[in-house]
Amino acid sequence: MSKIYDTLIIGGGPAGLSAALYASRSKMSTLVFEKARMGGQIVITADVANYPGSVCKEGAEHPTGPEIVARMVQQAEDFGAQRVMKEIKKVNLSDKIKTIETADGEIYQGKSIILATGAVPRKLGCIGEKEFTGKGVSYCATCDADFFTDFEVFVVGGGDSAVEEAIYLADFARKVTLVVRKPFFRCAKSIEEKALANPKIEVKYNTELLEVKGDGIAESAIFKNNVTGEEYEYFAPEEDGTFGIFMFVGFDANTNLFKDVITVDNSNFVITNDNMETNIPGVFAAGDLRVKSLRQVVTATADGAIAATIAYKYIKEEFEK
Ligand SMILES: Cc1cc2nc3c(=O)[nH]c(=O)nc-3n(C[C@H](O)[C@H](O)[C@H](O)COP(=O)(O)OP(=O)(O)OC[C@H]3O[C@@H](n4cnc5c(N)ncnc54)[C@H](O)[C@@H]3O)c2cc1C
Repeated sequence: MSKIYDTLIIGGGPAGLSAALYASRSKMSTLVFEKARMGGQIVITADVANYPGSVCKEGAEHPTGPEIVARMVQQAEDFGAQRVMKEIKKVNLSDKIKTIETADGEIYQGKSIILATGAVPRKLGCIGEKEFTGKGVSYCATCDADFFTDFEVFVVGGGDSAVEEAIYLADFARKVTLVVRKPFFRCAKSIEEKALANPKIEVKYNTELLEVKGDGIAESAIFKNNVTGEEYEYFAPEEDGTFGIFMFVGFDANTNLFKDVITVDNSNFVITNDNMETNIPGVFAAGDLRVKSLRQVVTATADGAIAATIAYKYIKEEFEK
């Protein structure tokens, strides 16, 4: 606990790793804390087709999500950043020297903190969702599409992720039904057109999933038309025995740890200025946990780079004048 680091980064996703790269390259002593797997959400993605330089063409060599992460980790570590594979359970951000505590009670001190704890897929909240997660219910098409090769699947949601993932799932499943709560999609027109042109995809507008049922594995689901009020139950075909339900209904910010002291919006996403500064001097936020219009690897890494660069200037001003 005696050493005071220049910066402590909470979260080892793209934002935290980019911050670690920029901080350590500026010769700041840097620790990155990660509670699960380095890389955050992107490790569950096979193709990162929209990260500049990651060309995903059929037959072309391109890095997968985990490979991009491995390179990010190596790059940051090559410049001297260190990782600690522990969950941060407590923070004290109000003093000039910030203190954070791991789940096993270790305490670390830093002159600056970069919050990069990201976001997690939102739960729909229907009956049976929790019980059948991993037994029919999934939040990751890339991870689980293969299990449903030649089966029927439902995709719940009408935004970009839902429709893109439905198109992806149609390469595996026999049939994909998009369940859209509104009478229209909320995704980009080009993605909508692609989905509507896919003969394997059917769209049910004004429809909500109420319940997933089964005996140990998803076997049926109850849907409701929210205009007519009509409810109906879908049963997996006997020869299949089960089916898939993929939920893409948004994300929740991972900000419980500090949302009482850091200014957040109504949905608990952190409010920063363009320099990634929060309401507390020396505390920065980067990536999907921020209020922003685009949650992607490219914006997360850009945030991380800015946060580390401004943290460097902050330390020079506040500690070395
Ligand atoms: C299925 C899927 C597909 C996607 N596909 C793409 C794509 O093709 N292109 C693209 O650009 N983007 C894609 N995204 C979005 C992209 O992954 C995110 O925008 C990006 O990962 C955000 O990075 P982040 O570092 O802000 O947060 P995250 O990736 O969420 O990382 C946050 C990290 O912080 C850790 N953490 C949280 N709390 C603590 C704590 N208390 N202590 C220690 N560690 C903690 C978490 O374990 C996690 O590893 C996809 C996302 C998903 C889910």
